[in-house]
Amino acid sequence: MNGPTDEGKKRYPPNGLYQAKYMTQPHACTCTAECTDPCDGEDCGCSACLALHDGVASID
Ligand SMILES: [Zn+2]
Ligand SMILES: [Zn+2]
Repeated sequence: MNGPTDEGKKRYPPNGLYQAKYMTQPHACTCTAECTDPCDGEDCGCSACLALHDGVASID
């Protein structure tokens, strides 16, 4: 797993990690400043944003 980027730390303060309730491990946000905000993680491959996006999508 790649470490969180500086941009990731801004998006998921303080450490750039995102963990949903169903996850056993946190995901590091690897987004760059070029990413859209919010980012869906599909273009940049950020597993934190992808997980967040999938989690939101699966609520319905
Ligand atoms: Zn991200
Ligand atoms: Zn991104």
